[in-house]
Amino acid sequence: MWTPTLAAAAAALPPEGAQFAPWGGPAALMIAQPRPSAFIEVAPDSHFPIQNLPFGIFSTIADPRPRAGVAIGELVLDLAALEEAGLLTVAPAGSRVFDRDTLNGFIALGRPLWTHARSRVGDLLNEDHPDLRDNAGLRARALVPMREARMHLPVAIGGYTDFYSSKEHATNVGSMFRDPKNALLPNWRHLPVAYNGRASSVVVSGTPIRRPRGQLKMPDAEEPIFAPTRKLDFELETAFIVGEGNALGEPIAVDDAERHIFGLVLMNDWSARDIQQWEYVPLGPFNAKTFATSVSPWIVTLDALSPFRVAGPVQDPHPLPYLVQTGAGGLDLQLEVALASSGRTRATISRTNARHLYWSMAQQLAHHTVSGCNTRVGDLMGSGTISGSTPDSFGSLLEIAWNGTRPLALPGGAMRSFLEDGDEVIMTGWCQGDGYRVGFGEVRGEILPSPDSRRANPTGRTTGAGG
Ligand code: CA
Repeated sequence: MWTPTLAAAAAALPPEGAQFAPWGGPAALMIAQPRPSAFIEVAPDSHFPIQNLPFGIFSTIADPRPRAGVAIGELVLDLAALEEAGLLTVAPAGSRVFDRDTLNGFIALGRPLWTHARSRVGDLLNEDHPDLRDNAGLRARALVPMREARMHLPVAIGGYTDFYSSKEHATNVGSMFRDPKNALLPNWRHLPVAYNGRASSVVVSGTPIRRPRGQLKMPDAEEPIFAPTRKLDFELETAFIVGEGNALGEPIAVDDAERHIFGLVLMNDWSARDIQQWEYVPLGPFNAKTFATSVSPWIVTLDALSPFRVAGPVQDPHPLPYLVQTGAGGLDLQLEVALASSGRTRATISRTNARHLYWSMAQQLAHHTVSGCNTRVGDLMGSGTISGSTPDSFGSLLEIAWNGTRPLALPGGAMRSFLEDGDEVIMTGWCQGDGYRVGFGEVRGEILPSPDSRRANPTGRTTGAGG
């Protein structure tokens, strides 16, 4: 009988104080080499082979209690069932962590046990390992078809911060709204610019998004009006989830930062550009972004992403010492955005790669905490919109249609400057390995009409949502 203990899990790890490999750790290498194979069939283009094993929270109609799972091929492996069967023990002294409705309790156990749990799940799914493979009763209980799983927000998010780390995106927005010759503000190359977002309105993929209303001021008008946004947009981002926080007053060093990151999700930072343009001076976006932010349901661990780390862009000027990172801070992650409008087929409208990001996750976290600001398990940190250098690689409609001046033609003849009611935005992303993919699945959301504007509009004036 396999009886794991905290001490045994910790014994497999480098001694305390050892430099943590920026691309993962020893267990990641154990998973990746030699290439393992699951006893479950997984298609080569699946996002969820045995090399990935992302964590999420799911429920089913048959068992509506939200609980932790790992995605494998077209199935969800129920970690609470494995824990109950005594095959997956990570919490001390008989306590359980996988039968809860968030992953926070599991994540709070610390990196040695994240790595241990994922490694153990990999063993249980391995074709050479009999414990799950040969236990038909447990397989029937613990392996759920993904199409029958309802996914939930995987973590309770205490704080949400959104960075602005794509130089191409910041340059495009600066060119449109300020001055093409001085598109980047003077601070941008010196620090990872960010704002504090709203954690309460982060929702899981599939949650419908209601078109928000707010104050807008037309360029030729003297006064603002209250109306549904006419410039509803998406922003393609990745986001990391803090796995180990820092105490107030104790900054995280840049080369220690990745040890504090549990994993990544895809994120759509929905944005109302007309509300944003009127309200954002001088303190940044507020109602333009607080109405909803969507995230993908599966958290892909840094261990799973370790084979895909790449050097980020050259940084000029050289950052201040607290932001100088050793090792590969970037991630070769292919990203796509598709738009499906009511009754029409889905069209891919952007393809880009997270490797374009100028500031790395480690630099973002070091900068976030350098003042002494504390972070906590489950905090969400967005990358900022990820844009490439050409219009077909831009990460927002604002950029693709250049603030409405170059409307996007969709298959079937429809045109888009911004999102219309009934439009569904689907983002996906994956790292391409040799014969397999480590992917994120999707983050999707459909736009619902705004509430009746006449009821809430004290002036009685009504305006269409328009597109
Ligand atoms: Ca954003």
